[in-house]
Amino acid sequence: MAIAAEPDADLLRLGGFSGHDVPEDDLLRACVHCGMCLPSCPTYRLTGQEMSSPRGRLWLMRAVADDRLDLLDPLFDEQMYQCLNCRACEAVCPSGVRYGPLVEASRAQLEQHRPPRSLPARVLRSALMGWLFADAPHFRLAIGATRFYQRSGLQKLARATGMLKLLRMDEMEAMLPPISRKSLIPGDERWPADRTDGTVRQAHLFNGCIMGTVFANVNRAAARVVARNGADIDVPVGQQCCGALQVHAGMMDDARMLAQRNIDAFERFGDDPIIVTAAGCGAALKEYGHLLKDDPAYAARAARFSARVRDVNEYLAERDLVPPPVAVRKTVTYQEPCHLAHAQRITAQPRKLLKSIRGLQLVEMKESSLCCGSAGIYNLIRKEMADELGDRKARHVLETSAVEVITANPGCAMQLRASLQRNGGRARVRYLVELLDEAYGGARTKRSIVGRAARAAKSTLPGG
Ligand code: SF4
Ligand code: SF4
Repeated sequence: MAIAAEPDADLLRLGGFSGHDVPEDDLLRACVHCGMCLPSCPTYRLTGQEMSSPRGRLWLMRAVADDRLDLLDPLFDEQMYQCLNCRACEAVCPSGVRYGPLVEASRAQLEQHRPPRSLPARVLRSALMGWLFADAPHFRLAIGATRFYQRSGLQKLARATGMLKLLRMDEMEAMLPPISRKSLIPGDERWPADRTDGTVRQAHLFNGCIMGTVFANVNRAAARVVARNGADIDVPVGQQCCGALQVHAGMMDDARMLAQRNIDAFERFGDDPIIVTAAGCGAALKEYGHLLKDDPAYAARAARFSARVRDVNEYLAERDLVPPPVAVRKTVTYQEPCHLAHAQRITAQPRKLLKSIRGLQLVEMKESSLCCGSAGIYNLIRKEMADELGDRKARHVLETSAVEVITANPGCAMQLRASLQRNGGRARVRYLVELLDEAYGGARTKRSIVGRAARAAKSTLPGG
C-alpha cells in the first residue's frame, strides 16, 4: 500500500490514484464492511450483485488505493458510473462513510487518467459542460431556443416526421416539460416581505440553471412563500449553475470555477440565508466547503457560504410558519429526492409543511426515498436501469391513488412525469413549494412581488 502526500499537497498519490482529487484514505478506511448499506442501494436491489453495492464499490476503490487493481480496469470504470450517486448508502451507514466524495473523486481520477474519449463524445461533453452549463446566460439562450421550438410548431413537425426517433432523441425530448414561462433573470425581480410580525429578515434565492428557466414558475412560487413568511427575497446577479452535474461527471475544475463565481456573487450579503429550490443544487452548494478545501483563497469563504445554504423546505420548516389560509382538498403522495433525503438528511421538514396545508391528505408511497432513476444525467446515459427504477416508482405512486406526486428536485420531476406516462399514471407532478404557494393564494397574494415581477404575475395563475 502506498500512501504518500507530497509536501506540495496539490498533487497526491494513493496507490493507483494520483494527481488532483485523490479519494481520501481516511474516508475509505471508515468502511468496516458490515453490509448494512446493501438493502438501501438501488443498483444492488436491481442486480443482486455485490460489486453493484456500496460495499462492493468501496472494495474496488480500496483495491485501486492498495495497487491491487488498475485504475483503468473496465470493472472499476463500470461500477463508478453504474452508481447513481444517490447517497442512500451514506444515510444508513453506522460508520459514517462519506460515500459521495469518494465516488466523485474516483470519477475525477478516471477523467484525468483515461485515454481520450472519441471525438464526438469530447465535443458533446465540452458543449454541455464547457458552454451550456458553464455560464447562466448560455443556458437561458438555449432554453429560449427550446421554448421557440416548442411553441412555433417545429416540435409538432419534428415529432410527426419521426426525425427525433431517427436521431434517437425522442425519449429525451419527451421529458422536457412545456416551457411556457419566462426565465427568472437575476436582478430583475424581488419580493418584499409580508412583515405581519414586525421582524425584518433578508433572504437570497439561488436561481440555478434549470430551476431559473424550465421551472422559473417554481422559483417564483418559492419566493412568494418565503416573502409571505416574513423575509425580503431577491435573486442576486452574477450567480451561476451550482456545478453538481460537473461534480457528478468528475469534472472538478469546472465545478470549482462555478463555485468560486457563486461565492463571489453571494458574499456581499453577509450571513443572510441562501434559499435553494432544487435538492441536487442544495446538496452541491452545501459541499462547496469540501470542493474548495485546498484552495487558499476560497477554502474559508466556501465553508461560510455552505453554512448559509438552506433548501426552501428546510428554511420554511425552521420558521413559525404563517398558517396557509386556502384549503387544498386533494390527496397527494410525496417522493423524496435522494439529494434532499440522503445527502441533506431533510425528511421530516417536507412532511411537516404538507401537514400545514388545510384539507390536504398525504398518503405515503412505498420506497419513497428509493432513487427514481433520474440522478443527474443517469437517465440519459444508463437508460435501462433508470427506466427500471422509474417504473418501480410509478407503480408505487399508482398504488396510492394520489392525484398529485409532490417532490423537490427538477430531475425527479422530469423522471416521474416520464415514468408515470409510460405506466398509464395520470397523477400530476408538482413541487412542494408550488402546493404551499397555492395554499397561500398563489400569485394573487397581496404584496407578493414588485416591478417587472408584477407584470409577470399578470400571466401567472395560482400555483403556476
Ligand atoms: S459503507 Fe458503511 S454500511 Fe456499507 S459496508 Fe461500509 S461500513 Fe457498512
Ligand atoms: S450512492 Fe446509491 S447507487 Fe451508489 S452505492 Fe450508494 S446507494 Fe448504491
